[in-house]
Formats: sequence, C-alpha cells, structure tokens
Amino acid sequence: MKTETLILGGGLAGLSAAYHSEREYRILEREARVGGLCRTNWYDGFGFDLSIHILFTKQPDLARLVCEDLLRGEYHDHTRSSWVYSHERYTGYPFQGSLYGLPTDVATECLVGLIEAHRNPPSQAPANFAGWAYATFGEGIAKHFFLPYNERVWATSPEEMDYRWIADRVAVPDHGSPHAARSNRR
Ligand SMILES: Cc1cc2nc3c(=O)[nH]c(=O)nc-3n(C[C@H](O)[C@H](O)[C@H](O)COP(=O)(O)OP(=O)(O)OC[C@H]3O[C@@H](n4cnc5c(N)ncnc54)[C@H](O)[C@@H]3O)c2cc1C
Repeated sequence: MKTETLILGGGLAGLSAAYHSEREYRILEREARVGGLCRTNWYDGFGFDLSIHILFTKQPDLARLVCEDLLRGEYHDHTRSSWVYSHERYTGYPFQGSLYGLPTDVATECLVGLIEAHRNPPSQAPANFAGWAYATFGEGIAKHFFLPYNERVWATSPEEMDYRWIADRVAVPDHGSPHAARSNRR
C-alpha cells in the first residue's frame, strides 16, 4: 500500500489530521471502528460512551466546525452541575475552587499546601502531571482530590503522564506557579 500521508490511529487526533490534510492519506485503525476514546458502544439499544462526549473549547473556529459543520446542530448546550463526593459530603467541581464545606482539617491542609506551593515554586519544570499538580495546588489538594481523580479518569498514573497537554483545561489559581497554565472554567 502506498500513500502520501499515513495516519496511525483513528481517534480524534487521527480523524482531525485526515480532515485537515490537503494531501492523500490513509488511516490505520486497529479496532473495527474509528473514534478512539470518543467511541460509543451499543448493547441492546443502550449506548455506552467510552469517554464523556462534552466539548470544551475557547476557540470559536473549533466550536463552529464541530457544532455546525460536523454535528449540524445535533448537540445540546448544558450548564455544568458537577459535584465531588469527598469526605462524606458533596463539594463543587472543580474541587480546588470548592473547599468550603469540607472537614476543617482537610480544607486547612488543602489551603496550607496551596500557600506553601506558591511560596516555594520549583526551580525546574515538573517532570510529569503529578509534579505539576504538587507545584500548582500543593500537597493537600493533590492528595485529597487531584491525583486520585486523575488517575481514575485517565486510568494511568499521573506520574506517567505529561502535563503540558492538560494546561488549558484545569482551573488554576490566578497567580499560578511558573508552570501553571491559564485559568479555565473546566
Ligand atoms: C474518561 C474521559 C473523559 C473525557 N472527557 C472529555 C470531554 O468531556 N471533552 C473532551 O474534549 N475530551 C474528553 N476526553 C479526552 C478525549 O476523549 C481525548 O483527548 C481524545 O479522544 C483523544 O483522542 P486521540 O485521537 O488522541 O486518542 P484515542 O481516542 O485514544 O485514539 C487513538 C486511536 O488509535 C488507535 N490505535 C492505537 N494503537 C494503534 C495501532 N498500533 N495501530 C492502529 N491503531 C491504533 C486506537 O484504537 C484509537 O482508536 C476524555 C477522556 C477520557 C478518558
């Protein structure tokens, strides 16, 4: 088989590369269907999304492409109502902005950790996503929420993940660490 452009994997990244390619291309996908993490599997009429199908973007061009050109209006607008069950109570998501209502010792640990992290920023860029979480939020928030939550969401240890890709998607304090990203409403 010959092709000008060979794309490995038919997830969002591969499909997007193909969509925007101006050259001839071929996609190699190991599963029976493309979509990657955005696939929905159907059993007895029930659809199970492999990951949540919610679009967060600050880019008007991307929103227009997905909502108007690709989905042609077949989407719903939602106002977020997300809650974290932690220490036997619900607190708002994102956790790092919703410490009110947590047990006093937990909220204190989170706040003190945050202050310490910002007083002592690391001299080098974090080695991974876990290091970024400690540098950005401090030990308390990292321990009580950020690391276990992300390990569960991504089914991967944050120590094995890079942090730069997530930079745009996590709500960080206004005066973040040198390696923290811009604030985002997610
Ligand atoms: C729980 C969860 C929730 C999420 N929620 C959201 C959300 O709400 N909004 C949002 O924007 N994003 C969300 N994401 C992130 C989003 O789903 C991913 O960033 C995106 O789907 C990744 O696309 P990708 O193409 O990079 O990778 P993938 O989707 O992983 O695609 C990779 C593809 O490559 C194929 N492949 C792998 N190895 C080979 C090989 N050797 N040969 C051929 N093919 C191969 C795989 O089968 C797969 O189809 C979520 C992710 C998770 C896990």
